[in-house]
Amino acid sequence: MPELPEVEVVRAGLAPAVSDATILGVEVLEPRSLKRHDPVAGEFEALLLGRTMRTPARRGKFLWIPLDGEPRQAIVAHLGMSGQILLRDPGAVEAGLLRIRLHIETAAQPDGSRRELWVHFVDQRIFGSMAVDALVPTADGAAAGLGTDEALIPTQVAHIARDPLDPAFDDRAFAAALGRKNTGIKRALLDQTLVSGIGNIYADEALWASRIHYEQPASSLSPAKVRTLLSEVRHVLEKALAEGGTSFDAQYVNVNGNSGYFAHSLNAYGQEGRPCPRCGTPIVREKFMNRSSHFCPRCQRLR
Ligand SMILES: [Zn+2]
Repeated sequence: MPELPEVEVVRAGLAPAVSDATILGVEVLEPRSLKRHDPVAGEFEALLLGRTMRTPARRGKFLWIPLDGEPRQAIVAHLGMSGQILLRDPGAVEAGLLRIRLHIETAAQPDGSRRELWVHFVDQRIFGSMAVDALVPTADGAAAGLGTDEALIPTQVAHIARDPLDPAFDDRAFAAALGRKNTGIKRALLDQTLVSGIGNIYADEALWASRIHYEQPASSLSPAKVRTLLSEVRHVLEKALAEGGTSFDAQYVNVNGNSGYFAHSLNAYGQEGRPCPRCGTPIVREKFMNRSSHFCPRCQRLR
């Protein structure tokens, strides 16, 4: 499942193509991919036709493309488990399962010309979706996320906490919230209303780097340990971003269809039975919330 680095790679890849581009056509090939679109606001295709897009924005794993004009709206893209957004030349044949196509005309290039492109939403399992959603003011009045300086966020994303790479993320409020959580720390890290952008892969990696057991009660962590954890979370997200994200199951690709390289840098996630890079003890995998937790039983003891 795409986490912050993977979604950010997609956002950054889309930005040069869609910023100030005009939507010339919309094709919905799979109506289920509009399951999060509220038709009360209007028909998806009609709302988009002729609109100009602004720079794509992201908070946590959530991506949106603000639209020009009134009312203030945005295209919200949920990648779900297997969603991909790909930039194609018009006429290109899509190998994956194409669900939605936007036909766009880019902003004027340096030579004055405009270029037509297809934006493909490909989604094998249809857990992802696209929707046109209203933009509403952010709760804290700060810019909504990376890529936008507007304090406006889609209603579908408004309940999502800021992510640790967001300049407006409040470290002290996060530490205080952890102090009130009796759940295990990994469950808290995956709670998108507490901190966003972290999924199974980066939670396991950050906990390994911080030497914290995934079931350690969040409220038992010292302020120093929380600072270490946040620092390791940021480090692993930034490193993964620099390496183009993790393409562990080959579902995640950037807008050009290429995989990321971070899978080669994993220390714990997916490393069951392999020696811990720090102490040599075999990494263990345990069942956790319908998924798995990977950890070093020696470096990450429950205290
Ligand atoms: Zn170890």
